[in-house]
Amino acid sequence: AKASGKNCYHFYNREMNLKANQRLDLELDLRQALELNQLKLYYQPIVNARNLALVGCEVLLRWDHPDRGLVSPAQFIPIAEETGLIVPIGEWVLKQACLQAQAWRSAGCDLTFISVNISANQLRGRSLVDLVRTALDDSGLDPGVLELELTEGSLLPNPLVARDVLDEIREMGVRLVADDFGTGYSSLSYLKIFRFDKIKIDLQFVRDMLDDAGDAAIAKATIAMAHAFQAKVVAEGVETQEQVDELIACGCDQLQGYLFARPEPADPFQQRLRKRIGS
Ligand code: C2E
Ligand code: CA
Ligand code: CA
Ligand code: CA
Repeated sequence: AKASGKNCYHFYNREMNLKANQRLDLELDLRQALELNQLKLYYQPIVNARNLALVGCEVLLRWDHPDRGLVSPAQFIPIAEETGLIVPIGEWVLKQACLQAQAWRSAGCDLTFISVNISANQLRGRSLVDLVRTALDDSGLDPGVLELELTEGSLLPNPLVARDVLDEIREMGVRLVADDFGTGYSSLSYLKIFRFDKIKIDLQFVRDMLDDAGDAAIAKATIAMAHAFQAKVVAEGVETQEQVDELIACGCDQLQGYLFARPEPADPFQQRLRKRIGS
Protein backbone atom coordinates (compact mmCIF):
# COMPACT_ATOMS: atom_id res chain seq x y z
CA ALA A 1 0.00 0.00 0.00
CA LYS A 2 2.92 2.21 0.87
CA ALA A 3 4.57 1.62 -2.51
CA SER A 4 1.44 2.36 -4.48
CA GLY A 5 0.87 5.42 -2.37
CA LYS A 6 4.30 6.57 -3.30
CA ASN A 7 3.65 5.85 -6.96
CA CYS A 8 0.44 7.77 -6.79
CA TYR A 9 2.29 10.67 -5.33
CA HIS A 10 4.87 10.55 -8.11
CA PHE A 11 2.21 10.20 -10.73
CA TYR A 12 0.27 13.12 -9.33
CA ASN A 13 3.41 15.17 -9.18
CA ARG A 14 4.34 14.41 -12.76
CA GLU A 15 0.79 15.20 -13.86
CA MET A 16 0.96 18.53 -12.11
CA ASN A 17 4.33 19.25 -13.64
CA LEU A 18 3.00 18.48 -17.07
CA LYS A 19 0.07 20.82 -16.54
CA ALA A 20 2.33 23.57 -15.28
CA ASN A 21 4.66 23.11 -18.25
CA GLN A 22 1.81 23.19 -20.74
CA ARG A 23 0.54 26.35 -19.14
CA LEU A 24 3.98 27.91 -19.27
CA ASP A 25 4.29 26.97 -22.96
CA LEU A 26 0.94 28.55 -23.66
CA GLU A 27 1.93 31.66 -21.72
CA LEU A 28 5.21 32.02 -23.64
CA ASP A 29 3.38 31.59 -26.93
CA LEU A 30 0.68 34.03 -25.91
CA ARG A 31 3.33 36.69 -25.26
CA GLN A 32 4.15 36.58 -28.97
CA ALA A 33 0.67 35.97 -30.33
CA LEU A 34 -0.07 39.66 -30.86
CA GLU A 35 3.11 40.53 -32.80
CA LEU A 36 2.87 37.32 -34.79
CA ASN A 37 -0.65 38.27 -35.86
CA GLN A 38 -2.15 35.10 -34.47
CA LEU A 39 -5.06 36.76 -32.72
CA LYS A 40 -8.25 37.09 -34.74
CA LEU A 41 -11.58 38.69 -34.11
CA TYR A 42 -14.71 36.66 -34.73
CA TYR A 43 -18.17 38.19 -34.90
CA GLN A 44 -21.40 36.62 -33.71
CA PRO A 45 -24.67 38.12 -34.97
CA ILE A 46 -27.27 39.48 -32.55
CA VAL A 47 -30.82 39.78 -33.89
CA ASN A 48 -33.84 41.85 -33.01
CA ALA A 49 -36.31 39.50 -31.26
CA ARG A 50 -39.29 41.10 -32.99
CA ASN A 51 -38.33 40.46 -36.62
CA LEU A 52 -35.10 38.41 -36.27
CA ALA A 53 -33.23 41.03 -38.33
CA LEU A 54 -29.50 41.27 -37.72
CA VAL A 55 -28.83 44.39 -35.65
CA GLY A 56 -25.38 43.98 -34.15
CA CYS A 57 -22.68 41.57 -33.09
CA GLU A 58 -20.48 40.46 -30.23
CA VAL A 59 -16.75 40.45 -30.84
CA LEU A 60 -15.14 37.18 -29.70
CA LEU A 61 -11.39 36.70 -29.65
CA ARG A 62 -9.74 33.66 -31.26
CA TRP A 63 -6.11 32.55 -31.16
CA ASP A 64 -4.94 30.86 -34.31
CA HIS A 65 -1.94 28.95 -32.94
CA PRO A 66 0.47 27.49 -35.54
CA ASP A 67 0.60 24.03 -33.89
CA ARG A 68 -2.49 23.89 -31.74
CA GLY A 69 -4.97 25.34 -34.20
CA LEU A 70 -7.73 27.57 -32.88
CA VAL A 71 -7.27 27.93 -29.12
CA SER A 72 -10.48 28.74 -27.26
CA PRO A 73 -10.67 31.97 -25.25
CA ALA A 74 -11.78 29.84 -22.29
CA GLN A 75 -8.21 28.48 -22.33
CA PHE A 76 -6.16 31.59 -22.94
CA ILE A 77 -8.19 34.50 -21.52
CA PRO A 78 -7.58 33.29 -17.92
CA ILE A 79 -3.82 33.13 -18.64
CA ALA A 80 -3.96 36.55 -20.27
CA GLU A 81 -5.73 37.90 -17.17
CA GLU A 82 -3.26 36.40 -14.69
CA THR A 83 -0.20 37.60 -16.57
CA GLY A 84 -1.54 41.05 -17.39
CA LEU A 85 -1.25 40.25 -21.11
CA ILE A 86 -4.97 41.00 -21.31
CA VAL A 87 -4.12 44.71 -21.21
CA PRO A 88 -2.27 44.92 -24.57
CA ILE A 89 -4.55 42.23 -26.01
CA GLY A 90 -7.69 44.02 -24.84
CA GLU A 91 -6.39 47.28 -26.28
CA TRP A 92 -5.83 45.61 -29.64
CA VAL A 93 -9.31 44.04 -29.56
CA LEU A 94 -11.04 47.34 -28.86
CA LYS A 95 -9.12 49.32 -31.48
CA GLN A 96 -9.50 46.61 -34.09
CA ALA A 97 -13.22 46.20 -33.38
CA CYS A 98 -13.86 49.94 -33.75
CA LEU A 99 -11.90 50.10 -37.02
CA GLN A 100 -13.80 47.11 -38.40
CA ALA A 101 -17.20 48.43 -37.34
CA GLN A 102 -16.45 51.81 -38.94
CA ALA A 103 -15.23 50.11 -42.12
CA TRP A 104 -18.49 48.18 -42.38
CA ARG A 105 -20.60 51.24 -41.68
CA SER A 106 -18.67 53.37 -44.20
CA ALA A 107 -19.27 50.63 -46.75
CA GLY A 108 -22.99 51.12 -46.18
CA CYS A 109 -23.65 48.09 -43.98
CA ASP A 110 -26.43 48.49 -41.48
CA LEU A 111 -24.66 47.62 -38.22
CA THR A 112 -26.35 49.24 -35.22
CA PHE A 113 -23.87 48.11 -32.57
CA ILE A 114 -20.69 46.18 -31.94
CA SER A 115 -20.20 44.72 -28.49
CA VAL A 116 -16.73 44.20 -27.00
CA ASN A 117 -15.85 42.16 -23.88
CA ILE A 118 -13.87 44.05 -21.23
CA SER A 119 -11.91 42.14 -18.59
CA ALA A 120 -11.41 42.88 -14.89
CA ASN A 121 -7.78 43.81 -15.48
CA GLN A 122 -8.76 46.57 -17.90
CA LEU A 123 -10.80 48.17 -15.12
CA ARG A 124 -7.94 48.36 -12.62
CA GLY A 125 -7.13 52.00 -13.19
CA ARG A 126 -8.51 54.83 -15.26
CA SER A 127 -6.76 53.87 -18.47
CA LEU A 128 -9.91 52.37 -20.00
CA VAL A 129 -11.34 55.87 -20.43
CA ASP A 130 -8.38 56.93 -22.59
CA LEU A 131 -8.33 53.66 -24.45
CA VAL A 132 -12.00 53.98 -25.42
CA ARG A 133 -11.56 57.61 -26.44
CA THR A 134 -8.52 56.78 -28.58
CA ALA A 135 -10.21 53.80 -30.21
CA LEU A 136 -13.22 55.97 -31.12
CA ASP A 137 -11.10 58.93 -32.32
CA ASP A 138 -8.73 56.80 -34.40
CA SER A 139 -11.55 54.90 -36.08
CA GLY A 140 -14.07 57.72 -36.39
CA LEU A 141 -16.74 55.35 -35.10
CA ASP A 142 -19.93 56.91 -33.72
CA PRO A 143 -19.68 56.26 -29.92
CA GLY A 144 -23.34 55.19 -29.95
CA VAL A 145 -22.35 52.12 -31.97
CA LEU A 146 -19.91 50.83 -29.37
CA GLU A 147 -21.05 48.63 -26.50
CA LEU A 148 -18.83 47.31 -23.72
CA GLU A 149 -19.72 44.02 -22.01
CA LEU A 150 -18.78 43.93 -18.34
CA THR A 151 -19.15 41.15 -15.80
CA GLU A 152 -19.96 41.52 -12.15
CA GLY A 153 -16.60 39.93 -11.33
CA SER A 154 -14.81 42.80 -13.03
CA LEU A 155 -16.83 45.58 -11.38
CA LEU A 156 -17.32 44.51 -7.79
CA PRO A 157 -13.70 44.33 -6.54
CA ASN A 158 -13.49 48.10 -6.82
CA PRO A 159 -17.02 49.37 -7.45
CA LEU A 160 -16.44 53.06 -6.83
CA VAL A 161 -13.50 53.38 -9.22
CA ALA A 162 -15.33 51.22 -11.75
CA ARG A 163 -18.40 53.41 -11.50
CA ASP A 164 -16.40 56.60 -12.11
CA VAL A 165 -14.65 55.07 -15.11
CA LEU A 166 -17.91 53.74 -16.55
CA ASP A 167 -19.78 57.00 -15.97
CA GLU A 168 -17.13 58.83 -17.97
CA ILE A 169 -17.27 56.29 -20.77
CA ARG A 170 -21.06 56.44 -20.79
CA GLU A 171 -20.91 60.22 -21.09
CA MET A 172 -19.07 59.76 -24.38
CA GLY A 173 -22.19 57.99 -25.62
CA VAL A 174 -20.85 54.42 -25.39
CA ARG A 175 -23.37 51.87 -24.09
CA LEU A 176 -22.74 49.44 -21.25
CA VAL A 177 -23.90 45.84 -21.10
CA ALA A 178 -24.11 43.67 -17.96
CA ASP A 179 -22.67 40.37 -19.19
CA ASP A 180 -23.42 36.92 -17.72
CA PHE A 181 -26.21 38.44 -15.69
CA GLY A 182 -27.52 36.26 -12.86
CA THR A 183 -24.43 34.06 -12.53
CA GLY A 184 -22.87 36.03 -9.67
CA TYR A 185 -24.09 37.13 -6.30
CA SER A 186 -24.90 40.75 -6.89
CA SER A 187 -27.94 42.31 -5.28
CA LEU A 188 -30.42 44.52 -7.05
CA SER A 189 -28.37 47.56 -6.11
CA TYR A 190 -25.77 46.38 -8.67
CA LEU A 191 -28.17 47.60 -11.35
CA LYS A 192 -28.66 50.89 -9.59
CA ILE A 193 -24.96 51.61 -9.01
CA PHE A 194 -23.93 50.73 -12.56
CA ARG A 195 -26.35 52.15 -15.08
CA PHE A 196 -26.41 49.52 -17.76
CA ASP A 197 -28.07 50.13 -21.11
CA LYS A 198 -28.47 46.42 -21.72
CA ILE A 199 -28.50 43.24 -19.69
CA LYS A 200 -27.35 39.93 -21.11
CA ILE A 201 -29.07 36.81 -19.80
CA ASP A 202 -26.39 34.17 -19.39
CA LEU A 203 -26.60 31.10 -21.59
CA GLN A 204 -27.00 28.76 -18.63
CA PHE A 205 -30.48 30.20 -17.93
CA VAL A 206 -31.43 30.16 -21.60
CA ARG A 207 -30.28 26.54 -21.91
CA ASP A 208 -32.35 25.33 -18.97
CA MET A 209 -35.34 27.66 -18.98
CA LEU A 210 -37.64 25.22 -20.76
CA ASP A 211 -37.01 22.37 -18.29
CA ASP A 212 -36.29 24.21 -15.09
CA ALA A 213 -38.89 26.49 -13.54
CA GLY A 214 -36.19 28.22 -11.49
CA ASP A 215 -34.17 29.19 -14.55
CA ALA A 216 -37.32 30.33 -16.34
CA ALA A 217 -38.18 32.50 -13.35
CA ILE A 218 -34.69 34.05 -13.35
CA ALA A 219 -34.92 34.82 -17.07
CA LYS A 220 -38.37 36.38 -16.69
CA ALA A 221 -37.43 38.39 -13.61
CA THR A 222 -34.28 39.64 -15.33
CA ILE A 223 -36.28 40.90 -18.30
CA ALA A 224 -38.86 42.64 -16.11
CA MET A 225 -36.18 44.21 -13.95
CA ALA A 226 -34.07 45.37 -16.89
CA HIS A 227 -37.10 47.03 -18.44
CA ALA A 228 -37.91 48.73 -15.12
CA PHE A 229 -34.40 50.25 -15.36
CA GLN A 230 -35.06 51.27 -19.02
CA ALA A 231 -32.45 48.75 -20.13
CA LYS A 232 -32.74 46.36 -23.06
CA VAL A 233 -32.31 42.61 -22.69
CA VAL A 234 -30.33 40.26 -24.89
CA ALA A 235 -30.36 36.48 -24.41
CA GLU A 236 -27.20 34.55 -25.32
CA GLY A 237 -26.84 30.86 -26.14
CA VAL A 238 -30.14 30.59 -28.03
CA GLU A 239 -30.09 27.22 -29.79
CA THR A 240 -33.73 26.21 -30.36
CA GLN A 241 -36.95 27.67 -31.72
CA GLU A 242 -38.66 26.80 -28.41
CA GLN A 243 -36.22 29.06 -26.60
CA VAL A 244 -36.92 31.84 -29.11
CA ASP A 245 -40.67 31.51 -28.58
CA GLU A 246 -40.34 31.54 -24.81
CA LEU A 247 -37.91 34.49 -24.77
CA ILE A 248 -40.12 36.52 -27.09
CA ALA A 249 -43.15 35.70 -24.91
CA CYS A 250 -41.21 37.10 -21.94
CA GLY A 251 -40.44 40.33 -23.79
CA CYS A 252 -36.75 39.76 -24.52
CA ASP A 253 -35.43 42.41 -26.96
CA GLN A 254 -32.49 40.73 -28.70
CA LEU A 255 -31.27 37.18 -29.31
CA GLN A 256 -27.83 35.66 -29.88
CA GLY A 257 -26.90 32.01 -30.35
CA TYR A 258 -25.99 29.11 -32.59
CA LEU A 259 -29.58 28.94 -33.87
CA PHE A 260 -28.84 32.15 -35.78
CA ALA A 261 -25.10 31.85 -36.31
CA ARG A 262 -21.85 30.85 -34.66
CA PRO A 263 -19.08 33.40 -34.21
CA GLU A 264 -17.40 33.82 -37.62
CA PRO A 265 -14.50 35.72 -39.21
CA ALA A 266 -14.97 39.22 -40.62
CA ASP A 267 -15.56 38.15 -44.25
CA PRO A 268 -18.51 35.81 -43.77
CA PHE A 269 -19.99 38.21 -41.24
CA GLN A 270 -19.75 41.03 -43.76
CA GLN A 271 -21.57 38.90 -46.36
CA ARG A 272 -24.30 38.39 -43.79
CA LEU A 273 -24.46 42.13 -43.10
CA ARG A 274 -24.81 42.84 -46.78
CA LYS A 275 -27.75 40.50 -46.99
CA ARG A 276 -29.03 41.97 -43.70
CA ILE A 277 -30.04 38.60 -42.32
CA GLY A 278 -29.51 37.03 -38.94
CA SER A 279 -29.41 33.43 -40.03
P1 C2E B 1 -19.00 35.33 -23.06
O1 C2E B 1 -18.66 36.78 -23.10
O2 C2E B 1 -20.05 34.89 -22.10
O3 C2E B 1 -19.35 34.94 -24.56
C1 C2E B 1 -20.35 34.03 -24.95
C2 C2E B 1 -19.78 32.69 -25.29
O4 C2E B 1 -20.88 31.83 -25.66
C3 C2E B 1 -18.85 32.69 -26.50
O5 C2E B 1 -17.86 31.69 -26.27
C4 C2E B 1 -19.78 32.26 -27.64
O6 C2E B 1 -19.08 31.68 -28.73
C5 C2E B 1 -20.61 31.25 -26.92
N1 C2E B 1 -21.92 31.03 -27.57
C6 C2E B 1 -22.62 31.87 -28.36
N2 C2E B 1 -23.79 31.32 -28.75
C7 C2E B 1 -23.84 30.08 -28.19
C8 C2E B 1 -24.80 29.00 -28.23
O7 C2E B 1 -25.86 29.09 -28.85
N3 C2E B 1 -24.48 27.88 -27.51
C9 C2E B 1 -23.32 27.77 -26.79
N4 C2E B 1 -23.10 26.64 -26.14
N5 C2E B 1 -22.39 28.77 -26.75
C10 C2E B 1 -22.65 29.90 -27.44
P2 C2E B 1 -16.33 31.93 -26.66
O8 C2E B 1 -16.26 32.67 -27.96
O9 C2E B 1 -15.63 30.62 -26.54
O10 C2E B 1 -15.82 32.91 -25.52
C11 C2E B 1 -15.74 32.47 -24.18
C12 C2E B 1 -15.48 33.60 -23.23
O11 C2E B 1 -14.18 34.16 -23.46
C13 C2E B 1 -16.45 34.78 -23.39
O12 C2E B 1 -17.67 34.47 -22.72
C14 C2E B 1 -15.66 35.89 -22.74
O13 C2E B 1 -15.77 35.81 -21.33
C15 C2E B 1 -14.22 35.52 -23.11
N6 C2E B 1 -13.82 36.36 -24.26
C16 C2E B 1 -13.96 36.14 -25.58
N7 C2E B 1 -13.45 37.16 -26.31
C17 C2E B 1 -12.96 38.05 -25.42
C18 C2E B 1 -12.29 39.33 -25.53
O14 C2E B 1 -12.07 39.89 -26.61
N8 C2E B 1 -11.93 39.94 -24.36
C19 C2E B 1 -12.19 39.39 -23.13
N9 C2E B 1 -11.81 40.05 -22.03
N10 C2E B 1 -12.82 38.20 -22.99
C20 C2E B 1 -13.20 37.54 -24.12
CA1 CA C 1 -19.78 38.59 -23.53
CA1 CA D 1 -22.00 34.40 -20.89
CA1 CA E 1 -18.54 34.89 -19.56
